[in-house]
Amino acid sequence: MGLTIAERWFEFDRLADGVTRIWEPHVIRVMQCNIWHVRGRDRDLLIDTGLGVASLRAAAVHIFDRPLAAVATHTHIDHVGSLHEFTERIAHPAEARTLDRPSQNFSMLRTDHPVEFIAGLERAGYEVGPCFITALPAAEFALRAFTCPAAPATRLVEEGDVIDLGDRVFEVLHLPGHSPGSIGLWERNSGVLFSGDAVYDGPLLDELPGSEIATYLKTMQRLERLPVRIVHAGHDPSFDGARLRQLARAYLERRGARQS
Ligand SMILES: [Zn+2]
Repeated sequence: MGLTIAERWFEFDRLADGVTRIWEPHVIRVMQCNIWHVRGRDRDLLIDTGLGVASLRAAAVHIFDRPLAAVATHTHIDHVGSLHEFTERIAHPAEARTLDRPSQNFSMLRTDHPVEFIAGLERAGYEVGPCFITALPAAEFALRAFTCPAAPATRLVEEGDVIDLGDRVFEVLHLPGHSPGSIGLWERNSGVLFSGDAVYDGPLLDELPGSEIATYLKTMQRLERLPVRIVHAGHDPSFDGARLRQLARAYLERRGARQS
């Protein structure tokens, strides 16, 4: 395939409010997860961990210098690949079992996946090339033999539970639809929402195994009413509350829950 070896795998963008966005530039958009790091007084928060083809802990050792709670917004592989590298692992019970065993082999090659899986991503609006990564994380990386180790949850959280960083408190919102155990983290004081894949500013996926449109519609109705200032999502750039309401309304209209 002739892929070059990436000089570095992760990029770091420092945003306001002690938030850092970590991302993987050499992963195709549909699998390019935003990894969020939030500074707290007593401990830090890590929201999602990327594809796992390179060590997140090693790459980000300069910011992982304090106690850290790692949260899986859901268990799709592009969000939990490096979860096993962290000792405190938080997930929703509806998906926690997935983390108990190593992942299934996930080939980086398009041709190793069912035609219907790729067609579904393309129908949703994504371009999928021959390979899910556009550079190699290391010379010895095997494109068709990628698994990640088990990463059993050490804490299960449900709707209304809180994750307390000392000076910042995040409330768990159960936001199913994209997947059954999708959660968001809501900081009511600041109006900041980490939404995972429940909503992002790009083509939403509601026909994956485990997705459920009827449930997703309810989640969107709820998100539309949330007094959000900024959304840091599972993919694509962050956006404000007005854009969230636009995205939610567009989904509700598209899926027929509302006459336009
Ligand atoms: Zn997902």
